[in-house]
Amino acid sequence: MTEDSITRKLRRRAPLIGDDCAVIQPPAGQDLLFTADLSIEGVHFTRESSAEQIGARAVARSLSDIAAMGGTPLYCLVSMALAPWTDERWIDGFYRGIFKLLRKAKASVAGGDISHAGQFVCDIMICGSVAKGKALLRSGARPGDMLYVSGPLGGWKHKRVIVPRLDFGRELVGVATACMDISDGLALDLHRLCRESGVAAELDDVPLLKGATLDQALHDGEDYELLYTAPPRIKAPGMPIGRIIKGKPGAVRFQGRAVRPIGYDHARLM
Ligand SMILES: [Mg+2]
Repeated sequence: MTEDSITRKLRRRAPLIGDDCAVIQPPAGQDLLFTADLSIEGVHFTRESSAEQIGARAVARSLSDIAAMGGTPLYCLVSMALAPWTDERWIDGFYRGIFKLLRKAKASVAGGDISHAGQFVCDIMICGSVAKGKALLRSGARPGDMLYVSGPLGGWKHKRVIVPRLDFGRELVGVATACMDISDGLALDLHRLCRESGVAAELDDVPLLKGATLDQALHDGEDYELLYTAPPRIKAPGMPIGRIIKGKPGAVRFQGRAVRPIGYDHARLM
């Protein structure tokens, strides 16, 4: 196996690959969205997961960010550092997982990079688009807005497969005033959304996945549901969980009690 043999195989499924850069015409009347997510052996996954699961999950995390902006994914760059234990069969499986999700999302692989390291690392960068000026930002929530999630929460222990909410996100364009995906837990991510919007939030009710506790839903993370706000007069899809109020920017309360913004934080775990 060589870098060229991997690339040759890839080009059969990804015709945009071949030059030093992929050349792409920007879609008319659209803003471009860019996001990247690292997946590192021992941090985001272990070797117990199959290659296909690891590839699919890595892509799903980036697709979820595009969904959170109300966008449509278009192109994907796959960069990876191969580990001593990753053989050709494993790499085929890894790409199989990637292509499976990208095919569903109608996005294509446009390039990437191959290197090596002591453990497997990949970086999935996705470029998407959204109608000009229509991207769902974190900063648009206003006091009086209702707060919603796209589905029940419970954190990574209860949610093994990430389903990026792409259709749901697109439905929120022109409806939601602010939106983000929940990657690090409701408590921390809602705190971030409120801080960006300069508002506070009051939670009344958090829908839970079967078997999950409120604590897991608030703090565990990796739910990858959408968290968004909309004015009360607008009929929004999803599950209402509370409302946006005036207050110290970023402050979150659950049934009157303060919720600490604790969730999954890589920078704290160093
Ligand atoms: Mg995100």
